[in-house]
Amino acid sequence: MEKKGYLRQLSSVDEVLQLPAVQVLVESYPRSVVVEAVRTIIDEIRQTILSASDAAELGELSLEPEHLVPLVSELVERSMSPQLRRVINATGVVIHTNLGRSILNAAAVEAIAEVAKSYSNLEFDLKKGERGSRHMHIEDLICTITGAEAGMVVNNNAGAVLLALSAVAEGKEVIASRGELVEIGGSFRIPDVMRQSGAALREVGTTNKTYIADYEENITADTMLLLKVHTSNFKVLGFTAEASLEEMVALAKEREIFVMHDLGSGVLIDLGKFGITYEPTVQDSVRAGVDIITFSGDKLLGGPQGGIIIGNRDLISRMKKHPLARALRVDKMTLAGLEATLRFYLDPDRAVKEIPTLSMIIASQSDLEDKAKSLAAKLKEESGNYSIEVEKDISMVGGGALPVEKLPTWVVVVTSTEFSAAELERKLRIFSPPIVVRIKEDKILLDVRTILPEDFDDIAQAFASIR
Ligand SMILES: *Cc1c(COP(=O)(O)O)cnc(C)c1O
Repeated sequence: MEKKGYLRQLSSVDEVLQLPAVQVLVESYPRSVVVEAVRTIIDEIRQTILSASDAAELGELSLEPEHLVPLVSELVERSMSPQLRRVINATGVVIHTNLGRSILNAAAVEAIAEVAKSYSNLEFDLKKGERGSRHMHIEDLICTITGAEAGMVVNNNAGAVLLALSAVAEGKEVIASRGELVEIGGSFRIPDVMRQSGAALREVGTTNKTYIADYEENITADTMLLLKVHTSNFKVLGFTAEASLEEMVALAKEREIFVMHDLGSGVLIDLGKFGITYEPTVQDSVRAGVDIITFSGDKLLGGPQGGIIIGNRDLISRMKKHPLARALRVDKMTLAGLEATLRFYLDPDRAVKEIPTLSMIIASQSDLEDKAKSLAAKLKEESGNYSIEVEKDISMVGGGALPVEKLPTWVVVVTSTEFSAAELERKLRIFSPPIVVRIKEDKILLDVRTILPEDFDDIAQAFASIR
């Protein structure tokens, strides 16, 4: 085989760079990126030549510099397009941690853009004309909605738990039930966070049953906190017992210590009236008299990533002054998005309409059925090689919330005569924009619960162009 001949014919990086079409690329993209792309493409062809096993393979190669242009151009565009980008969530999992958890309401997005592109009063008290605190903007709002005395926001709920434990219980003991030593994923484990905070964990009770007496018998002179952790991503069923918040608060008061509740999701509206299983609300914990309550901003609350801490004013002010508060501090964009989201909660009927996470969870069967039918009709119009049907199925809330809740939903079921479900799933996943779907019994399911109206055209295009 004439490999040497082929290698000799291969253009040099400079030759390719001189081509007018490549010069056009250099005008719109950083030169270094174009040079790197040219080098990569030439390298790939060289590797193809070196590893070719017969002459026919080599014969198919086109080595004219002009033929490299589309390859270079595609690579440049690929490496210059955002890595973090919009994805169509057709999984039906509303709070999909891998897909960015909650999507934001329009008011939050607008508020974020506003403070992002202009200066703001982030830490400036406009009334007094002096330095202010970034906590001041939404503390009142959080307290109005939850009934708490004080509050602050940090980077996320894991940070909220770490800060609360560090500021309140460092060097002291914290009592927690063995049934609540949870792992949330991404290596957030209660015993590990406890160690990190410098507090000593005292486990009490058993995996399935812990009584108030278990806490009581283990209180020592070193005990600072009774910790309750919401088992947000699993359920213990059968023979179970746990101490109620009221019992824990009464015990803590008597012994002059505090109760902390890591709620995880932090639902602010009882979704029971929409047929969703009761999930402990933030207001329930406040009413029970819990001293420190922590929850996420981007789970059931439906806002941006954040960790909200509310409760006893003295304890919250200790946290605000702790060095970790600075390390975990929330940025202005989060505050803007969270404030706009929280404002909807002043009117719960409005909140369930405007906050996408909530409206997706409580979406009615008839709305989902209509949505599935209209997506199916659109897909049938645009693409011929698929069998497209509409069926009932089940979606999950996700995001470590309501782990056993089965939300009845409607899905568009797609099968192809050409591709297996796994192949189709992959093609949709690498489409632009990527479409993430469910596979069930070798069929592709598009769960319309999490599909946005503006996604319809892209999905139709994907099916039309996948061959
Ligand atoms: C989700 C969760 C956390 C972590 O919250 P992030 O906002 O993801 O940091 C902590 N505790 C519980 C109980 C949770 O459910």
